[in-house]
Amino acid sequence: MAELLRIEGLVVEREGRAILRGVDLAVAEGEIHAILGANGTGKSTLAHALMGLSGYRPARGRILFAGQDITEKSVTERARLGITLAWQQPASFEGLTVREYLEIARRGGREGPAVEECLARVGLPPRNYLGRTLNDRLSGGERKRVELAAVLAMNPRLAILDEPDSGIDVLSLDDIMEVIRGMNRRGTTVLLITHREEFARAAHRASHLCGGRILKTGDCAEVVRFYKDFCKECASLPAPELEEVGQDEGRR
Ligand code: ADP
Ligand code: MG
Repeated sequence: MAELLRIEGLVVEREGRAILRGVDLAVAEGEIHAILGANGTGKSTLAHALMGLSGYRPARGRILFAGQDITEKSVTERARLGITLAWQQPASFEGLTVREYLEIARRGGREGPAVEECLARVGLPPRNYLGRTLNDRLSGGERKRVELAAVLAMNPRLAILDEPDSGIDVLSLDDIMEVIRGMNRRGTTVLLITHREEFARAAHRASHLCGGRILKTGDCAEVVRFYKDFCKECASLPAPELEEVGQDEGRR
């Protein structure tokens, strides 16, 4: 399969500290690729850097999308190329109704299913939600589901889903995976960012992120096994040694 996303030696610093310390990753067009890593390993930082958010410009390395170097491109340019990010904690948009938000997503993207269908697929009855305002009166979980519906409506070329289950207690992991498989069947390549091994198992391939580097990419079960074994090991090490283990593993 052709490569859609390629990340080479990506270094991202926040407040003078390197959070991503040389991420290498290749994502094939059409796959659901899980990025599995414990809390604080840099998963959201990677998501933000891929989307090109300000403050996440790489200090080193590059990002290629469909063969094009997008490292210096703005969020808007990346969105136009078909990249979208569903945040770990979605924002609310005072004044915009759910219908308006989803219509904007749909027209701005590659016109996925009708907005009613997108809402229904994430378990939100359209007639109860289309007229609601996208503000704080929607729960965090509802906003998160509206955002997933927006990704469906957008039908992007690449969807970066940062912990898509976080805050959603009414949908099971299988339900959420079914939503993800649905967008994937319509041609969206998915980068599924998670700390849950059950999610990583349900992807096509997985990569393990630890200490700001991808330590292993491949078959999901293998990567999950590595994550469990390696992280057990690294949790018991003092911080300075942890750095070294990360570097050694990264060179494998
Ligand atoms: P994850 O999503 O894997 O839990 P993050 O990418 O959110 O990890 O964070 C990775 C590391 O970067 C953490 O140690 C976190 O404390 C740090 N970090 C996150 N955001 C900032 C920030 N704005 N400024 C400084 N450090 C940050
Ligand atoms: Mg995160």
